[in-house]
Amino acid sequence: MDARGLAPWLADRLPAGAVIIDPVQLATYACDGLAHYKVVPAVVVLPETAEQVATVVRACAEHGVPFVARGAGTGLSGGALPHADGVLVVLSRMRDVVEVDRANQRAVVQPGVVNLQLSALTRPDGYYFAPDPSSQQVCSVGGNVAENSGGAHCLKYGFTTGHVTGLQLVTPAGELVELGGKAPDLPGYDLLGAVVGSEGTLGVATRVTVRLTRTPEAVETLLAGFPDTDSAGRAVSAVISAGVVPAAIEMMDALAIEAAEAAVHCGYPAGAGAVLIVELDGPRPEVAHQFEQVKGMCEDAGAFEIRVAADDTERALIWKGRKSAFAAVGRISPDYIVQDGVIPRTRLAEALTRIEALAGERGVRVANVFHAGDGNLHPLVLFDDAVPGEAERAEEASGAIIDLCIELGGSITGEHGVGSDKAKYMPRMFGEDDLDTMQLVRCAFDPAGIANPGKIFPTPRLCGEVPRRRTASEGAHPLVEAGLADQF
Ligand SMILES: Cc1cc2nc3c(=O)[nH]c(=O)nc-3n(C[C@H](O)[C@H](O)[C@H](O)COP(=O)(O)OP(=O)(O)OC[C@H]3O[C@@H](n4cnc5c(N)ncnc54)[C@H](O)[C@@H]3O)c2cc1C
Repeated sequence: MDARGLAPWLADRLPAGAVIIDPVQLATYACDGLAHYKVVPAVVVLPETAEQVATVVRACAEHGVPFVARGAGTGLSGGALPHADGVLVVLSRMRDVVEVDRANQRAVVQPGVVNLQLSALTRPDGYYFAPDPSSQQVCSVGGNVAENSGGAHCLKYGFTTGHVTGLQLVTPAGELVELGGKAPDLPGYDLLGAVVGSEGTLGVATRVTVRLTRTPEAVETLLAGFPDTDSAGRAVSAVISAGVVPAAIEMMDALAIEAAEAAVHCGYPAGAGAVLIVELDGPRPEVAHQFEQVKGMCEDAGAFEIRVAADDTERALIWKGRKSAFAAVGRISPDYIVQDGVIPRTRLAEALTRIEALAGERGVRVANVFHAGDGNLHPLVLFDDAVPGEAERAEEASGAIIDLCIELGGSITGEHGVGSDKAKYMPRMFGEDDLDTMQLVRCAFDPAGIANPGKIFPTPRLCGEVPRRRTASEGAHPLVEAGLADQF
């Protein structure tokens, strides 16, 4: 039976209106935040409980129907791109905060809970959920788990993986299993660690136990204007090498500043070639001491203006420019590609110079907004789709940026994931044997290859959709040869 054939059976078992097959409604789920990839799913389901998710997935497993999990659909790598012959499992109706356990600093939530809502709920008691993607007003905790999302403050607090201690998972066979719990670091293989960041390819998270972080006693935010990105980069290096760990240290270049000003009037220093936003938090005396250090380092590196947020309103305005930067770029360019790559922090200046050159060679402009503290770049490649050939040149520049990140010793993605978009780059970063080994993990969870197929890996290997037999000249896979794995 195919996905469409399953729909009536599912409709009998899910709440009214939870199974969608109407073509107009289906079309609204055709893409995630990466809107230039579109696939209309065969069926959309909107379950309300873990048991309903398990029922859907079990039916898919029984009939070999692919399924794709979707949270809020803000992903920027096409991770939640539907399968044309599959079921899209939308978790947005699973929005309950099941428990807030203050004594253990844990919260247990359904996957559709919105990131910022969890912090808003726990803040009055002095806690919050630390991972803070810029999309946090809308993205779901389940999506954060699947993407191992980061954010401006992950420099100090770490990515989502450091904040998840337990998961309830519907496996691709439709079984409900528990991984981890409230206690940290359970014995045995770290299956929880394998699932966090697996982009929906190892199952559907139906409940998440997260670590709550104490709100800091003091927060100080500084905005520094520099003549250029080189001098701002020098300030970043000085801060980090002095052993100061800011909660966040973000950089925007002139083009990104121009866009943010046009969109949200954030009042960044006029004429700046780059701005840095540095936020320090922690015990009051420590923050006060480090703040003076950071100010001095910015001045030494060439900052011509330094502004300090006097209160929460001013702090919010400083952050508004940064957090709205992706969308703001729409003010200065009809179309743009959001790229996401990582380089070692020490190569920041070189990377920015080369990005400008490679964009110039292709006749496109790039605005840079990034988490400077951990070298996570977000070059925004600007183009006009109405100009013949410009989209292709922008795409080429975007790919060349990824090649540059690899060449400089970095990675093809910092936080937006591989999804559909970057699967093609995986072989540039990993060898065949690396990819085969990763595929073995996937096969252990999903031998039938029905969970979010076509994502992360450029071509399925060893199990899944179309297993590729190694050629005679390649011989057996090293793991198979060593008796450590079987070919499915
Ligand atoms: C303006 C903007 C700014 C952004 N800024 C950041 C940023 O600063 N940092 C960052 O990391 N990301 C950022 N993102 C990307 C995105 O918001 C994050 O990846 C986010 O965590 C995705 O959550 P979502 O609920 O929208 O997931 P979706 O887009 O719905 O899904 C993302 C992936 O997770 C899987 N998935 C979703 N829910 C589940 C589940 N319950 N179980 C298993 N798999 C699941 C999907 O199959 C898909 O592969 C940004 C996006 C936008 C549009």
